[in-house]
Amino acid sequence: MCLAGVLMLALWGCNSSEPPATVATQKDAALVPKTHSGSYPIRVVCTTGMVGDLVRHTGGEHVQVHVLMGPGVDPHLYKARPNDLRLLQQADLVFYSGLHLEGRLAEVLESLSRQGRRVYAVTSALTAEDLLGDGGQFDPHVWFDVRLWHKCLGLVREVLAQYDPAHRESYQAQAERYGAKLLALDEWMRNQLAQIPKTQRVLVTAHDAFRYFGRAYEIEVYGIQGISTESEASLREIDALVQMLVARRIKAIFVESSVNPRHVQAVVESCRRQGHEIRIGGELFSDALGEFRPDVPEEENPGTYIGMMRHNVRTIVEALR
Ligand SMILES: [Zn+2]
Repeated sequence: MCLAGVLMLALWGCNSSEPPATVATQKDAALVPKTHSGSYPIRVVCTTGMVGDLVRHTGGEHVQVHVLMGPGVDPHLYKARPNDLRLLQQADLVFYSGLHLEGRLAEVLESLSRQGRRVYAVTSALTAEDLLGDGGQFDPHVWFDVRLWHKCLGLVREVLAQYDPAHRESYQAQAERYGAKLLALDEWMRNQLAQIPKTQRVLVTAHDAFRYFGRAYEIEVYGIQGISTESEASLREIDALVQMLVARRIKAIFVESSVNPRHVQAVVESCRRQGHEIRIGGELFSDALGEFRPDVPEEENPGTYIGMMRHNVRTIVEALR
């Protein structure tokens, strides 16, 4: 990697809570080849399906992407399996989401980075102003704001172009194509969500994953699990949540594919006890993609980022409008 590239990536790194060690330093860069010198396809390992989609679309035929966390897998709790370590060691490039999404895998990724491996957090493309958080900890669920995810695509494009300059133009063109699809998705989501009356734009889900979604698309969001796993005061917050749902006659709340639904069910029952018939509006994909279906187009395929976002928005709009 050229010095300018190292500096640029290091600069991106400074703006997030990621340790600067997530990008190769000048000293480490001597340990790995400056640019791709092996055979094709370039071997890339990604943590989540959402990150995998960024790399697959940008890299096209020049990359082979392996995603560690499949459908229904909770990245906050995921631990590396022995086979993962082998894959990570052998990869030419590793991309992860970052901001401590991969809680238990972070140590492994940081240690690879210290060994001079090429390991990149896609969210290091974001600035402090882009991010939400409290107590010095940033919220990692940035893919729920499509425009932020579009910025992360830019980092993937730059890393691939610098690592494999022979195909720079191809990476730029493919990232631009996928980027246009992402911006169209963002527009579609805004139009769809506008169908929900303003007073009914309340999204209650199993855990606190939708804050970026709420900020970007003007919906109030509440995560039950984020509240209930804590103290006594949190039980009061759940009670306050139930009172709000009853008072505003909110029609539905939602379960998530990677989180246990029992807390959501409990809120539904509390509302019913107070005479408000609320229902479970469906299952949302939050921290993992759905099952990839090879015969289904991307827009309808829950195993892709675009398909997953469209599924979520359709489910939310149908239940709340
Ligand atoms: Zn989460």
